[in-house]
Amino acid sequence: MFTVIRIFGLKIKIISKTRQAQARVRELKKYIDDRSDEQYRNLANKLSNIVARWSIPVRLDHVSVSLADHCNYNCFACMTFSNIAKPKFADIEMVTRDLKKLAELTNKRLDFINLYGGEPLLHPNIVPFFKVAREMFVDSRITLTTNATLLLKQGLNFWTAVKEYNIDITPTRYSELNMLETEKYAASFGVELHYWDSDAPRESVYQPLDLKGGQNNLTSFTNCFQPNCTILREGRIYPCQPPALIHIFNEHFNQCLEVSKFDYLELDRVQDEREILEFISRPIPFCRYCKVWAHKRMGGHLLSQREIGEWT
Ligand code: SF4
Ligand code: SF4
Repeated sequence: MFTVIRIFGLKIKIISKTRQAQARVRELKKYIDDRSDEQYRNLANKLSNIVARWSIPVRLDHVSVSLADHCNYNCFACMTFSNIAKPKFADIEMVTRDLKKLAELTNKRLDFINLYGGEPLLHPNIVPFFKVAREMFVDSRITLTTNATLLLKQGLNFWTAVKEYNIDITPTRYSELNMLETEKYAASFGVELHYWDSDAPRESVYQPLDLKGGQNNLTSFTNCFQPNCTILREGRIYPCQPPALIHIFNEHFNQCLEVSKFDYLELDRVQDEREILEFISRPIPFCRYCKVWAHKRMGGHLLSQREIGEWT
């Protein structure tokens, strides 16, 4: 009996016979020894990502909740398919129910909740989401991730709620958008913006899907770029965005990438937090659609032509 794992192009066969196992370890050691310093550093980083990917966390640290599927911007290969999505807003009653259940399961312990989209500021009534998230998770960091294009249109009611419910506005920085005026406007209400990830402008990334689902889901998961991006959506927990949102891609491009009942957890049926932690730490059937090995940085932020090739 053996298992084969392919990491960075290196095929590792985990076998039970000691002599063969030692040979494999020697092979791996030689592979590492032959690398340059930079390659070695990259390898070490990737290995630590893999360990993190397969480790079961001791507790759930965050979830993302989308407030609007669609977006008013048009980024190349948008990871949430928002530039090809039909307008759809989150329902406050459903989000309240989901957050309440999650609060019960986690004993209200979450490091942070990310309210995002699409563009969440398109939602015509966003303040109740701030209120309910804060009521359920009194001590958590609550972020609102936005492309910032609509921040200048927000009035006193919005900024008062941001302060009252202690919402951290975390815009994505795009090189083509000048944020100075927006920063000053937020500051006039006593709010400081904290850019998502870092102050560096967002770079487009090509993250293609395999329309035929022919990838090895174990390998895709192991090298996955979205570790533990837990999504809470319409009564379900997903370990990442693609299975939660693929219906948008399917509908727009007339495709049929399948989401099965093993790709998510029904929140109502979850018994305890551990069940969620185990679920987000293992591959799902949908991983067979992710061509993780083909991911490529595009060297800057690009706009979308809304063609299927950006995602495939
Ligand atoms: S701003 Fe964000 S959600 Fe909107 S198109 Fe760009 S990446 Fe997608
Ligand atoms: S489906 Fe699997 S490989 Fe694709 S993003 Fe999610 S966890 Fe990663």
